This record gives sequence, structure tokens and C-alpha cells, in this order.
Amino acid sequence: MSVVEKTLSQKAIDLENEYGAHNYHPLPVVLERGEGVFVWDVEGKRYYDFLSAYSAVNQGHCHPKIINALTEQAQKLTLTSRAFHNDILGKYEKYVCDFFGFDKVLPMNSGAEAVETAIKLCRKYAYEKKGIEENKAEIIVCENNFHGRTTTIISFSNDEDARKNFGPFTDGFIKIEYDNLEALEEVLKSNNNVAGFLVEPIQGEAGVYVPSEGYLTKAKDLCAKYDVLFIADEVQTGIARTGKILAVDHENVKPDILILGKALSGGVYPVSAVFARNEIMYVLKPGQHGSTFGGNPLACAVAIASLDVVQDENLAENAERLGKLFRSEIEKLIPTTDLVTGVRGKGLLNAILINDTEESETAWNICLKLRDNGLLAKPTHGNIIRFAPPLVMTEDQIMDCVSIIEKTIREFVK
Ligand SMILES: *Cc1c(COP(=O)(O)O)cnc(C)c1O
Repeated sequence: MSVVEKTLSQKAIDLENEYGAHNYHPLPVVLERGEGVFVWDVEGKRYYDFLSAYSAVNQGHCHPKIINALTEQAQKLTLTSRAFHNDILGKYEKYVCDFFGFDKVLPMNSGAEAVETAIKLCRKYAYEKKGIEENKAEIIVCENNFHGRTTTIISFSNDEDARKNFGPFTDGFIKIEYDNLEALEEVLKSNNNVAGFLVEPIQGEAGVYVPSEGYLTKAKDLCAKYDVLFIADEVQTGIARTGKILAVDHENVKPDILILGKALSGGVYPVSAVFARNEIMYVLKPGQHGSTFGGNPLACAVAIASLDVVQDENLAENAERLGKLFRSEIEKLIPTTDLVTGVRGKGLLNAILINDTEESETAWNICLKLRDNGLLAKPTHGNIIRFAPPLVMTEDQIMDCVSIIEKTIREFVK
């Protein structure tokens, strides 16, 4: 290869740079194929995927059962819109309601849309069932939350990059510290206009912050006490990722409103959903909310197959078992290096903390080395690297990954 000739990877990166909006900063690797826990780049190099598209690919890349459902349905019927019924939507709705234990589901596409839906539902319920005065409803959210990118959702983010110059913002949100029950009760006690509490059972984007044991149970109890809806955003934590079907299952908490996305489709197609009991969902009447693609036949077929896979392959149990193994192996590494100061997480949603500042390039550079050594991960924040492989991983594979991480950390010089 001559010096001026670009690699296939570089050509693909250049095209993205030239024609795509620069709203992401991807790790320089260009993928063209995936199967199970692996992805391959355009030069044919194989990697362990340790991000799983932000936990959308829990079932592994291109799971044959899901791809089969997609291609079969794609040849029959893809989109009717909700102007008409279709023969699979009701079947899907029953399937997911039974699966997650709710009366009703409202199908959307992206996670952010599902969060928006939950906010609208929560507000409407507050006005029509709780009697909060119109336009006065407030929703409690947590600091360092991540719930998506719409204008309303970034209104209650405290990520400067996500907010700066996107205002004016939507009112009606009160931010409290995460994992702080006193702060929650303080607001609930002093404010009669609170309609809901929106929370991630583990804060994924913020850096995999696992709250204290009992936090979710007590937060739910407080919400019940003050007649406020407990809304769990499980877009990232749900669908077996943390070692249970839902992260709230670790504390046997039943949300009033549950938000799912990402792995609901095994990463094959955008599918999201909002769940609630009848009394809540019935506040929505025809014409009051919707989506052209929400609940389309292709999405329904893909989502049913994706959840079948989670159940048939015991992905929650596998995530629980391999997660424990993974954290215990990393714990062994920590005393032997000054580069990693901690590991935390639940199931296969984990993060390691890098001994440097948030502004430093260290975590990014470690991710580049991990890539060279055949494992793909990305920092969530400057000094935190999230590790979230597909849940179809085997014990041998996770041990192989642990050695790649160990080797990378040992070889790494700042
Ligand atoms: C990814 C994510 C969202 C947003 O989902 P999109 O499909 O990107 O809109 C919302 N909440 C949480 C917790 C997420 O991780």
C-alpha cells in the first residue's frame, strides 16, 4: 500500500466527517459486520463489542431468531400507521404486557419519545385524576440524569453540552440529588403540584451510578405516600442488562410508569414502549398522542422475537452470573495498578474508574488501546469507561475479555 492510499476505514471516516453532522465523536473504528458478541471492521479485524450500542444489542448482534422475524414480517407488511388496525399489534401488546406485568402499553420508536410520552401521560393524569391545577404540574428528576435529547428532556439535564444554546427550555421539572431520599421527601412534602418522579434505576450515561440498596423501594414508597407517580426509565437498564428482566426487579419495585427502548428490539430496529396500569393509560384518548411508526408490524414482530430470545436464552441469569465474575476479576486487578481505582455496576452494566481527571484523555486513550487489543468500549465521562457487552456472552469469552482489559491496563503508559 502506498503512503498516500487511504485505508478503507479512513475512507469511511472521511465520508462521515465530510457529509455527516458532527454531533458525535466516535472511536476511530469502522464496523461492517456483527455476530453475537463480536463485530468486525472493514479490514476484517474482529472485536468484542463491550458497548452493545448502549445496551440495545443485549441479545447479541444479528441474532438469527430476531433477523428471521424481521425478514419474514418485512415481506408481509411493514407499516399501516395507526389509522388502521394490523394483525400483529394486539398480539405484541398482549405479549409485552404479560412479559412485564402491566395492563397497558403505548408503543413508540426511540427512547426519548417514550420518555416524552411518559411525561405527557404523567402530567395529564395529574390534571385529570389528581386535580392539580392546569399547567402547574411538576415532575421530580435527578441530577446527572440522561433521558434523551428532545427539547423538553434536555430542559432538565445538567449536561452543559446537551443544553447550551438550545433554550428556551420546558418548565415543570424539579431536580434533586440522585440516591438522596431526604431530598425527595423534602420536595414531596412541601409541594402539592408534584405529579411524578422520573428516575433511572442505575444512572447509565452518568457513569453507571448504582444507588444505595433500598433506594428504589423507599423512593417508590414515598411516591405512593404522596400520591405521585414513580416513573422508571429502564431504556438502558431494562431487558436483562443488570441481571434481572428489569433493574427495579432487584428491589421488587413496580413502577407506575415503565419506559423501555433499546434492547426491546435487540438492536435491530427502533422500538420503545411506555407501560402503565389502566387507570393511568386511560387518560389518553384518540388524537391526544401518537406516532406514525409506533407499533408498526415490523417493530412488533422484531420486539416479540427479541423478548423470546431474552427468555429462551436466560439472558438475565447469564448477565447476573457473568457480571459477578467480571467485577470480581477486575477487583483483583485494581490493587496491582494505579490506573484503575474502582469497578461498579450490576449484571453486565459495569464501569471502571480511571485514575485521572474528567478532562483528561486517559480513558479515551485506554479505549484506543483496548480497540487495538480487540475490544471496543467508550468512556461515558472523561474518566469512566462503561463495559456493557452483549448478554449472550459465555464464561470463556468474558474471561478472554478480562485478559484483554488486564493486558491493556498493564501495558498502558500515560
Ligand atoms: C438511551 C437512553 C434514552 C434515549 O433513547 P434514544 O433511543 O436514544 O432516544 C433514554 N433514557 C435512557 C436511560 C437511555 O439510556
